[in-house]
Amino acid sequence: MNMNLNIKDTFNKELPADPIFENTRRQVKNACFSFVSPKQTAKPELLHVSPDMLGELGLTEEDAKSKYFLNVFTGNQAIENTKPFAMCYGGHQFGNWAGQLGDGRAINLFEVEHNNNHWALQLKGSGETPYSRTADGLAVLRSSVREYLCSEAMYHLGVPTTRALSLALSGDKVLRDVMYNGNSAYEKGAIVSRVAPSFLRFGNFQILAARQDIDTLKVLVNYTIKHFFSELGEPSKETYIAFFKEVVQRTLKMIIDWQRVGFVHGVMNTDNMSILGLTIDYGPYGWLEGFDFGWTPNTTDIKHKRYRFANQPNMGLWNLYQLANALYSLIDEAEPLEAVLEQYKADFETGSLKMMRDKLGLIKEDESDRILIQELEDNLQLIETDMTVFFRNLSRFSTEKPLEGLDIIKDAFYVFNEITGAIEDRWNIWFTKYAERLQQEETTFEERKVAMNQINPKYVLRNYMSQLAIDDANKGDYKLIDELFNLLKRPYDEQPEKEEWFAKRPEWARDKVGCSMLSCSS
Ligand code: AMP
Ligand code: MG
Repeated sequence: MNMNLNIKDTFNKELPADPIFENTRRQVKNACFSFVSPKQTAKPELLHVSPDMLGELGLTEEDAKSKYFLNVFTGNQAIENTKPFAMCYGGHQFGNWAGQLGDGRAINLFEVEHNNNHWALQLKGSGETPYSRTADGLAVLRSSVREYLCSEAMYHLGVPTTRALSLALSGDKVLRDVMYNGNSAYEKGAIVSRVAPSFLRFGNFQILAARQDIDTLKVLVNYTIKHFFSELGEPSKETYIAFFKEVVQRTLKMIIDWQRVGFVHGVMNTDNMSILGLTIDYGPYGWLEGFDFGWTPNTTDIKHKRYRFANQPNMGLWNLYQLANALYSLIDEAEPLEAVLEQYKADFETGSLKMMRDKLGLIKEDESDRILIQELEDNLQLIETDMTVFFRNLSRFSTEKPLEGLDIIKDAFYVFNEITGAIEDRWNIWFTKYAERLQQEETTFEERKVAMNQINPKYVLRNYMSQLAIDDANKGDYKLIDELFNLLKRPYDEQPEKEEWFAKRPEWARDKVGCSMLSCSS
C-alpha cells in the first residue's frame, strides 16, 4: 500500500544526526537534528485537506480519502524507508538569546520531489521530541485551524509562506491554560501537516555559531546553498555573502507584503524566521482591522509591543543582524555583512514606498508621494478605520469628485458619527490632494481600479472569522473551515455571494478571546 509520492530525502541524509535515538529532552550538540517518531494518536480524523497541495505533491483526492493518508499525516504510520526527525535550532526570543529551542512539537516526515519542486513535509502537534523542553509537543484545534487556514490564505494573497496539506483531529485531549491565569482546561488535540521547500530557520544556524561548532555550521550552510540557493554557485566566502544578501532580500520582500495586507506575525523571534523568507509558525498572529501602527496581536507582547505592526520591518532587520553574527564565523569579515544590512534600510524605504504607491494606484513617481502617504497614514489613525475595507473601496474613488471620497470609504469607519469638524476637513483635504496627484497618471479609472484590486485584498482572515470556524469546529461542525478556505483562495476577487465577509469586525468580537488578542498558548 503506497501513495505515489516521489520521496527524495536530503536533510536527514546529508546533515549530521544526533547519535542518540531515545526520545528524551536533552541538549543536542554537533548535530542538526534528532530522529524521533510521531506519537500514536487515539482516534485520528481528517477535517480538511488542501486540494492544491495534494496536486503540488503529486497526490490525488482519492489518496486523501485512504486510511493510509490519514495514518501518515497524523503520525500513526511512517512511510517505508523514511526516518522522521526533529530539527535542532536556537533563537532570540523577544530580544534575548534563549539557547537551544528546536522542533518541540514539529516532526519532519520526508521530502518529496514533484514537477521540479522540492517539498518537505512536517507534522505540527504530533508529540514530544528531544526539543520539547517543558511542554507536551501537542497542538490544540483552535491554533491548528488558525495555522491551516492562514498559511493557505497567505499563499493566495501572494505572500511567501509555508503551506498546509491537512488538518486533523488527533482524538486526544490536550491541557491548556489559554489566558495564563490558572484556568487550565482540556481541549481537542489536532495535527496540521505543513509543507515548505525547507523549514530551516535563522535559529538553525545561530545555535551552531553560539556553540562555536563552526564545522557543522559550514556543513549546514553548504547544504542550504546547494539545495535552495544553487544559483549562487559553489561554496566560498563570496557565496556566503551572496547567500546572506539573498536571505535579506527575501525577508524584506516578505515583510513588505505583510505590511501591504495588514498581517502582524506576533512572534518574530529568530527561531520563527525562515531562511527562505517564508512566513512561518502561525501562532498569535493577527490581521489589522483598524489601521494602527501600534497594534500587536500577542498578549505576551503587550507591554513592549516589540512585534507591533509598524515595528515588523525593524524587527526583520534586527533578526538579520543575529543571522549575520552567526554567519560571520564563516566569513571573518564584518564589513560586507554590514553593507548588506545597510542596504536593507535603503531597500525598505524604496520598497515600502512602492508598495504604498501600488495600494493607491500610483504608477508614476512623484516627490510629493511620501507626504501624501504619510498624511494618509495619519488620517487612518484619527479614528478607528478598517484597513482592508478602506483600501478596497478606495479603488472606486473618482478624480472628478474628490469630495465624494469620504462617502466612498465611509464603511471603513467603525463609528461614522465621529467624522465631523476637523476630522472631516482633514479627509477632504487629503482626497483633494489625492485627486490632484491622480491627474498625473495616464491610467483610466477602470485600469486603476483593476490594478488596485489586485494589490488590496477584499477578503482576509480576520481574527473573528477564524474564531467562528473554531467555535463551530469544537462542536463538530467543519463547514465554516471549508467555506473560509475556499473564500480565501480568491482574496482579490469580488465574490459578491460572499459579501458578508467583506465587513468590519463585528462589535461582539472587539474584546472576545481569540478575536482581538491571542496568547502563545496553543
Ligand atoms: P514558538 O515561538 O511558539 O514558535 O515556540 C518556541 C519554541 O517552543 C519552539 O522550540 C517550539 O517548538 C516550542 N514549543 C511551543 N509549543 C510547544 C509545545 N506544545 N510542546 C513542545 N514544544 C513547544
Ligand atoms: Mg516557532
